[in-house]
Amino acid sequence: ALVLGIESSCDETAVALVDSERRIVAQRIASQDAEHAPFGGVVPEIAARAHAERLAPMIEGVLADAGIALADCDAIAATAGPGLIGGVMVGLVSAKALAMATDTPLIAINHLEGHALSPRLADGSIAFPYALLLVSGGHCQILRVDGLGEYRRLATTIDDALGEAFDKTAKILGLGFPGGPAVERVALEGNAKAVPLPRPMVGSGEPHFSFAGLKSAVLRAHESGKYEIADIAASFQQAAVDCVTDRLRIALAGMDDVDTLVVAGGVAANATVRAALEQLAADHGMRFAAPPPKLCTDNAAMIAWAGVERLGQNDPLDISARPRWPLDPRAELVRGAGV
Ligand code: ATP
Ligand code: MG
Ligand code: FE
Repeated sequence: ALVLGIESSCDETAVALVDSERRIVAQRIASQDAEHAPFGGVVPEIAARAHAERLAPMIEGVLADAGIALADCDAIAATAGPGLIGGVMVGLVSAKALAMATDTPLIAINHLEGHALSPRLADGSIAFPYALLLVSGGHCQILRVDGLGEYRRLATTIDDALGEAFDKTAKILGLGFPGGPAVERVALEGNAKAVPLPRPMVGSGEPHFSFAGLKSAVLRAHESGKYEIADIAASFQQAAVDCVTDRLRIALAGMDDVDTLVVAGGVAANATVRAALEQLAADHGMRFAAPPPKLCTDNAAMIAWAGVERLGQNDPLDISARPRWPLDPRAELVRGAGV
């Protein structure tokens, strides 16, 4: 089977064709970094307009790259949320129009499920259940994944997401946008022990996260004028990694029957994060899996893949785009934090 995937929830316009043999038959990604960089972050209105301009030609392009007609696709999978609503609507409405015109099933995908299942696209041997660290620009969660659509959220952030903390640190240090890759690059030249920074929540019995205090400490360290940029970046990255491993240790203690640890989302592209998680998994006698970096940040292959996993689902053409859409609807909000 072959699924066309469309992703437009943030600032990547992406289209991909993925088959049930886990082959990415064709894909295109257009980043909007250049449009948003002058503002130091994603501007929703600019993002929606850019998606609207680029998406149709990109869909044509991907089909042409693969030499495939839309009618040859078994389903059209599009991100229906969560995300910036203008962009999500551009992608979802386009998918609806194509589905209607070609009488092809529409599958509305939760963007977070796309991230959550991406390790299974990369490696067919990753089986349920697994423990998932989902670390992206808008989310920082630990979930237990028992099957398709079966997500139990064990932890979330009470303030910033981890990717957001990287982005804010980059902004403070003048490293530009997007911040995560820039912080990682500069940190390579720095000493991770040079700057004393806090590890918020470490030691807490609940596995939740907090990164606002770390970001403020980065700001104070920078303003003190005492430290090199590279040393602050390296020390921030190490503090963040220490928080993540400590929080995961708490969460994994309640998942004795799970033998696989998986990381997904944009921050999963970070080599220091990956290395620390690999070690943590080894310490717990668990298998560790992380998708290749290009499947960690936003892409449409993961959306198409979620569509492959959901083949047979046929969503109605009046299905709504959802700015908020928690993977675990039962999860209680933590002190007002997001989904
Ligand atoms: P969400 O998936 O929560 O809706 P999003 O789609 O904007 O948010 P992703 O594209 O999954 O997020 O991830 C983007 C985030 O990942 C950004 O915050 C970015 O700084 C961060 N990121 C990307 N690469 C790296 C890296 N190498 N190191 C650290 N952070 C990174
Ligand atoms: Mg992006
Ligand atoms: Fe994402």
